[in-house]
Amino acid sequence: MLGLGAMGSALATALIDAGHAVTVWNRTPAKTAPLVARGAARAGDIDEALRAGQVIVTCLLDHTAVHDVLDDHAGALAGRTLVNVTNTTPEGSAELASWAACHGAEFLDGGIMAVPPQIGTPSAFVIYSGSEQALETARPALEAFGDVRYLGSDPSLAALQDLALLSGMYGMLGGILHAFALVRTGGITAREFAPVLREWLTSMAAWADSAAGRIDDGDHAGDVVSPLAMQAAAYDAFLTVARDRGVNPLLLEPLGQLLRRRTDDGHGHEDITGVIDDLTTTTTTT
Ligand code: NDP
Repeated sequence: MLGLGAMGSALATALIDAGHAVTVWNRTPAKTAPLVARGAARAGDIDEALRAGQVIVTCLLDHTAVHDVLDDHAGALAGRTLVNVTNTTPEGSAELASWAACHGAEFLDGGIMAVPPQIGTPSAFVIYSGSEQALETARPALEAFGDVRYLGSDPSLAALQDLALLSGMYGMLGGILHAFALVRTGGITAREFAPVLREWLTSMAAWADSAAGRIDDGDHAGDVVSPLAMQAAAYDAFLTVARDRGVNPLLLEPLGQLLRRRTDDGHGHEDITGVIDDLTTTTTTT
């Protein structure tokens, strides 16, 4: 296990607790201490860490850090299985897969859909893509992290879906922050408002399923219950009330501009799903 930040330490802990033999390495050696106390072996250097076991897990800050750590030690990767759960782009994952193949390693890329305290609990899942052989070799270890979800042999698939899932999450987080800022202007605390906000967002999350059908079918006009023109008008009210009450509407403005533009372009009778056509310049890459 290379990389013992908040996430790497949680992953290493889960491995140890599941009974796996774990060797740990971290750039700042002090972070190995709690894991060694829990039963891990400490590698003296990167080469020793890479040669310690069949499955190597990298959980570092970013793609650059992964190359910073591995490049000078690539000779130790031959015949081993490299699982990279460092957040990266699809292009970065594809590059790392080719790089690992050049050095004789089976490669699997992972996107962790959990925060560190969730690791090893039923609420954690990790999406993987890349070598199926790597998946099967590493699976007993990976099961310690959370539910193992394999997306396919194209190594970039996990990163693409990871970033899409996080994009959805950040849209939601921005909305939550704006909502709290707005109710605060009326003397309502975040704690007071959180239960009803969670109830509302949980109910609205099911919208993803109905939107998916419309988007895949390219049908934005059939059986519309909340037409875009109505939504654009309501949205203008969100922006107005925010400005009137001294809340910066910058988190909401971009979607409002899209709704208004699409309505002005004659799509006011359609569902909001049609906005995707204004966002996308290419629909698929093959
Ligand atoms: P931290 O910032 O806590 O840890 C970063 C780790 O990367 C540390 O071990 C750090 O070493 C190491 N590192 C950074 N740069 C270098 C470098 N140039 N050379 C060697 N080591 C380096 O991050 P997390 O552990 O939280 O995150 C790790 C990965 O997991 C990220 O890609 C993140 O996106 C992903 N992730 C994190 C989640 C979270 O909630 N924390 C959730 C899902 C994914 P040092 O200790 O010496 O600084």
